[in-house]
Amino acid sequence: MGKKITMTEVVSRDGLQIEPNFIETEYKISLIKRLMDAGVKRFEVTSFVHPKYVPQMSDAEEVMRGLRDRPDDVTFCTLALNEKGVERAISAGTDEINFTFSLSETHNGKNSRRSVSESLENIKSLVKRADEVNIPVNVGIATGFGCPFEGIYSPDRLIPVVTQLTDWGITSILLADTTGMAHPNQVKQTCQLIIEQFPGVRLQLHLHNTRGMGAANVVAGIEAGVTQFDSSLAGIGGCPFAPGASGNICTEDIVHMLHLMGYETNMNIDKLLLISRNLEEKLGKSLPGQLMKAGKSTDLHSKEWQAVTSK
Ligand code: ZN
Repeated sequence: MGKKITMTEVVSRDGLQIEPNFIETEYKISLIKRLMDAGVKRFEVTSFVHPKYVPQMSDAEEVMRGLRDRPDDVTFCTLALNEKGVERAISAGTDEINFTFSLSETHNGKNSRRSVSESLENIKSLVKRADEVNIPVNVGIATGFGCPFEGIYSPDRLIPVVTQLTDWGITSILLADTTGMAHPNQVKQTCQLIIEQFPGVRLQLHLHNTRGMGAANVVAGIEAGVTQFDSSLAGIGGCPFAPGASGNICTEDIVHMLHLMGYETNMNIDKLLLISRNLEEKLGKSLPGQLMKAGKSTDLHSKEWQAVTSK
């Protein structure tokens, strides 16, 4: 039996949040239901943020309500940035809460108008509230490998921050390459360092494919011992506060690769592809996913196959 890799599907949050046109709530609910049917067990469903800043997430409560009858083995994470968001997430019945800050002072300031240490203090108090109601938390370290304002970081830059988080009892960390700057050696070295120094931490990777290094970085993460990754169906998404940022690593592309390599993900590629193509239709533009264009490696064509040439 192959090694198990867990993918957290972020299409309905990180994926859709920068889409300029509002995607109706019913579609979001149906998207998540279809993904559950394709085998997805973990989601970052939505975010409880101010609707003025992220209008796409203004239906967070309705989306959660529409998915109340989910199976017990499916976990819904939601993102919150402040006390109000946490209270909303709790009332909406979230299974886990994600908090996030950026390791880059510049990026963090643009994103939250706070310094990194102020953001960390904020997270500390939010985690306390989640603890009171026994809701597990994941803390995301955005731009964990580098940022377009301050360049690529040495892995050591993470140590004091992770130390602080673990001192506060946080054991689940989402290390994010928000702007797709990390290369495989860096990912492997950084993850190895964190896993060695913080054996009690559950390390998850959140990778973007901005510079085409996403799949290679997944393999590098696995080589370092990481077994949990965020990804978005069709590879959509991106951070609005970082220049040139683009899509998350693409769920079906990564799952396809992992299955070929002998890993298990619990997901059905054919179902994922159908949902991905439907999303492309829905958004009315070509999406970054490559498997939806090329088909699976195991799809054989007859010898008579000819390229469709446009005139
Ligand atoms: Zn992201």
